[in-house]
Amino acid sequence: MMLPPDNHIHTQFSWDTRTRSSMIRACEQAEQIGLPAVAFTEHVDFIQWGAQDKPMNDVPEARAPGSIQPLDVEGYLASILECRERFPDLRIWSGIEAGEPHLFSGGVGDLLSQASFDRVLGSLHSLPREGLLVGVGWFLSGENAYDVVRDYCAELLRMIETSDVFEVLAHFDYPRRYWPRSAGPYEEAKVEAEHRAVFRALADSGRVLEINTASPLASAAAMGWWYDEGGGAVSFGSDAHTPQRVGDCFEEAVDVVEAAGFRPSKDRYDFWRR
Ligand SMILES: [Zn+2]
Ligand SMILES: [Zn+2]
Repeated sequence: MMLPPDNHIHTQFSWDTRTRSSMIRACEQAEQIGLPAVAFTEHVDFIQWGAQDKPMNDVPEARAPGSIQPLDVEGYLASILECRERFPDLRIWSGIEAGEPHLFSGGVGDLLSQASFDRVLGSLHSLPREGLLVGVGWFLSGENAYDVVRDYCAELLRMIETSDVFEVLAHFDYPRRYWPRSAGPYEEAKVEAEHRAVFRALADSGRVLEINTASPLASAAAMGWWYDEGGGAVSFGSDAHTPQRVGDCFEEAVDVVEAAGFRPSKDRYDFWRR
């Protein structure tokens, strides 16, 4: 079977990955399992509001300080070039995963003016809690989990409507990674309307939905909502933070995406399309 490109991989240049991964080893893994292409989409996140951002609070801090570090653009691009030389049979794309790009529009814009990236993923990891952005995983178990998913979808909708810097919407199902046992098994039908609204807006803007294999795998029904709402293309992303996870679960993901009505393009480097 022909596997699709892995459009969502982190390496040592992502602030939450550092020593856990290596771009070279990720390329080796991709070749070993027969991926045609990889995109190294490093995290771009911010702690403080910049002048051109769209803050959702009125203090300089956007979130509590943690381990977020700026992307070393020069080192990253040098590593991409080195890997392209070392692995001539593998197509290697540059990229970023922009966190809350609609809020950090200035910071993300600055970065995109310094260098061009082949893949720009848009991600929502955090929601406002007590005046600061907080990672969904920190509060999901302490609240009504379905209400958090509804909030998350509402913010995704704002992100799609107010930011055009990203091409691919990453892990639309991010809260499921932290699904609390106390909430019982996840019932997607409870949040179908909210997801359809997100998918409709994304489809109307001509962008791409990611199936993320680090999250619990999306169902064919959920990917079918994307198809129904006019979604044109699907991107496969492992969201690997270690080399071993590059292309992980892609065979299962291919089955899900195919069952939802999408097909590989003639160009094996392309997204899958309807
Ligand atoms: Zn992410
Ligand atoms: Zn990621």
